[in-house]
Amino acid sequence: MLKVKNIQSYYGNIQALKDVSLEISEGEIITLIGSNGAGKTTTLMSISGLVPPKHGEILFEGQPIHQTSPDKIVALGVSQVPEGRRIFPYFTVMENLEMGTYLRNDKVGIREDLEYVMELFPILKKREHQLGGTLSGGEQQMLAISRALMGRPKLLLLDEPSLGLAPIIVRQIFDIIKKINEEHKTTIFLVEQNANLALKVAHRGYVMENGRIVLEDAATSLLSNEEVKKAYLGF
Ligand code: ATP
Repeated sequence: MLKVKNIQSYYGNIQALKDVSLEISEGEIITLIGSNGAGKTTTLMSISGLVPPKHGEILFEGQPIHQTSPDKIVALGVSQVPEGRRIFPYFTVMENLEMGTYLRNDKVGIREDLEYVMELFPILKKREHQLGGTLSGGEQQMLAISRALMGRPKLLLLDEPSLGLAPIIVRQIFDIIKKINEEHKTTIFLVEQNANLALKVAHRGYVMENGRIVLEDAATSLLSNEEVKKAYLGF
């Protein structure tokens, strides 16, 4: 579904990605783990067109997207849930969800997807007329994921969904990430600092250090890899 080939991405003169390559097949949950500043968010932003790579290629379903604008990438079926949620605080929950449908006009499909996200996160139904900014951190994360799902993406990019949330809420959200993948057949690319949780839901994982991919394997193998255990799992 997605092929990232030797991309190099920059912020001005600062090179954040140095020859990053990875692949995601349809139906997979792939995780990218690594410490602060390793380049995980930049990898997501390069895929979604917000930080286009200077060199290298990104193919989505065989089509080059590394020079495509972010709105067109969304239209192709790639939605990103940004780090820190970035919901619209002065819009209601329902209005936030509607923002996720701005490229669609299939009313029946939109209604189906609305029912689907309300079923996934019943708390959003209760809060539908509440302003986004008044929700708890966990509810905002649920809203951000739901808003992205309202675009009916083929590939969902999740940036640190666990950030700043209580462990019990994180577990709930990760269970739902798994459900979205299994029941809704959405392919997921999950960037996480919580390597333990991420590797438990993912099929495969990539480890990133200083702008480079340094390791790639099945998630179960990474969980038992001594280097990964020492550096990222706190053993
Ligand atoms: P974190 O978990 O802290 O978000 P990360 O692995 O996602 O870390 P990135 O945010 O992709 O890492 O950052 C990669 C590198 O790019 C870092 O050295 C960072 O300082 C730098 N960087 C990120 N954003 C910018 C920016 N807007 N301007 C300049 N440099 C940036």
